[in-house]
Amino acid sequence: MADTATPAGETLAFQAEVGRLLDIVAHSLYSDRRVFLRELISNASDACDRLRYEALTRPDLAAPDTEFRIELLIDTAARTLTVADNGIGMNRAELIENLGTIARSGTAAFVKSLTGDAKKDVPLIGQFGVGFYSAFMVADGVTVETRHAGEEQGWRWASDGKGEFTLSPIARTTPGTSVILHMREDAGEFLEPENLRGIVRQYSDHVAIPIKLGGERGETLNQASALWVRPKSEVTPEQYKDFYHHVSHGFDEPWLTLHWRAEGKIEYSGLLFVPGSRPMDLYHPERKHAVKLYVRRVFITDGEKDLLPGYLRFLRGVVDSEDLPLNISREMLQNNPVLSLIRAGVVNRVLGELAKKAIDAPEGYAQFWENFGTVLKEGLYEDPIHRDKLFALLRFGSTHGAGLHSLPDYVSRLKPGQDAIYYLAGEDLKALEASPQLEGYRKRGVEVLLLTDPVDEFWIAQVPEYQGKKFKSVTRGSADLSKMPLPEGATEATPDATAESEITPLLALFRLALQDSVKDVRVSQRLTDSPVCLVADENDLDIHIERMLRLHKQLNQASKRILEINAAHPVIKALAADLGKGGASDRLNDAAFLLLDQARLLEGEAIPDTAAFARRLTAALSRSVGS
Ligand code: ADP
Ligand code: MG
Repeated sequence: MADTATPAGETLAFQAEVGRLLDIVAHSLYSDRRVFLRELISNASDACDRLRYEALTRPDLAAPDTEFRIELLIDTAARTLTVADNGIGMNRAELIENLGTIARSGTAAFVKSLTGDAKKDVPLIGQFGVGFYSAFMVADGVTVETRHAGEEQGWRWASDGKGEFTLSPIARTTPGTSVILHMREDAGEFLEPENLRGIVRQYSDHVAIPIKLGGERGETLNQASALWVRPKSEVTPEQYKDFYHHVSHGFDEPWLTLHWRAEGKIEYSGLLFVPGSRPMDLYHPERKHAVKLYVRRVFITDGEKDLLPGYLRFLRGVVDSEDLPLNISREMLQNNPVLSLIRAGVVNRVLGELAKKAIDAPEGYAQFWENFGTVLKEGLYEDPIHRDKLFALLRFGSTHGAGLHSLPDYVSRLKPGQDAIYYLAGEDLKALEASPQLEGYRKRGVEVLLLTDPVDEFWIAQVPEYQGKKFKSVTRGSADLSKMPLPEGATEATPDATAESEITPLLALFRLALQDSVKDVRVSQRLTDSPVCLVADENDLDIHIERMLRLHKQLNQASKRILEINAAHPVIKALAADLGKGGASDRLNDAAFLLLDQARLLEGEAIPDTAAFARRLTAALSRSVGS
């Protein structure tokens, strides 16, 4: 049915992002233009998968014995290459939506990150499959003729990739899509059969639908059998890699390839990849996962949330079930017991393999951890059943030494009397290592984990203990260090009873001077070398997480901190003595503020009154040089 409201041959503008993308695609000398064919074949194969799936419940759309295929047709005289399929096709609205805007969220994010400077953008494009639009790398005109299965009207979409496209109704007898590329002057190589053969073998050999050169009876270029059901021994590393590129639209190497067949209560095949680099849309809110679900070689859906937990969303690949009914609808997948069993099996397999890699290949694992550790940690609170397995995969910086450390390692190094896992959170490892709050722990040889990932404090707040040991921040609450003995030969730095009485008047003076700025001033158990530090009260938010929340405007008030002073520090001792001799109170007041400001600086906090700080510092300096 022709849409009567639609004039024949209307012209529409691309969405602005598409315009930018096309500009870059067409003008940048792309390192490997051959991927355009991979992308068009992938779309054609998706379209066949979708029609096969739809036809399970709507036999009127395609006969059950339909032979799905992809054809590559060369017309040397017209300088065109056509990629044709007998898949689901598109109607007018779908053409506008799919070939006029950017549908894939990751691609949209990617286009936003483009700068317009080809030098910077081209390598980025190299990391990203740009789908249909990559046709403009080789073509200066693209025509799409298509008809949606189950609809009467065919449509022609045409564009030279310069900001606009045209749409017109056409007569078309069969459903499916033909993408006709008018080859650019410099892209004649893609009109040569030998080249097409090579590209298909390299990039699309595993596509499960036959790719034919020439018409229906043409030569089949690919193996056309699902790679994931072939025995492992018959698949080469190259084929795995090419398949990974197909499912990820990426160009990187997979870091880990998992290929297995589960047999027993339920049967399924899994071919999953952990990417070697971080996909750009990993933190996109609508991002679920990109693993495709098949039932006996028939594509059902991708991104099905019941197939994989969100914290494994970096995985790419295929899961193919033997047990689910072929005509299962996407709605029927929700809470499906077979799918739950598959999910449990897949999660166990993946976590098990990661644990092996963590032990066997720690360097590679460190790179994985850098890429995806943040995502994996979400599982600690989202999936309590697998928490123990996830605990074993965690890695942190630590005062124990450079590199990454695990929780089991930490626990193996617990000191006698130590009943907590100590941590210090912040943005930057170097700054953390220099934190005064660590001094007392260092002195006792008690290890402190150094957490630099913002999500650490979120899961730690919800997962309070590991192997019966509570996680405890060294910047919150009182330090209970006395339970842990000092190493042989070390002496307690904290003051004895007499010193404590000497310090009491100074504490009182500091409390009075700083009463509007801090919650309390107290003698520290955790300092050995520095005169002061700030800590959070036991029931307040930890210092670092509070700063993050304020930064993200989720909290607009800062809680007051406790200033801890090191009673054994020479400066503190001298101040106490000065007070004992009736020292001038403005000088001691200044000292209180200067010490507080210094503690703030060490926390990475701003000094609230910089003018007052400068005045006090100048006064102190001039006293020290005796002017
Ligand atoms: P992606 O394949 O990642 O979604 P593309 O840019 O490759 O991104 O394609 C955009 C959309 O256009 C596809 O999702 C699909 O809906 C539609 N499309 C492209 N090619 C075809 C085709 N041959 N048959 C049917 N739909 C297609
Ligand atoms: Mg695509």
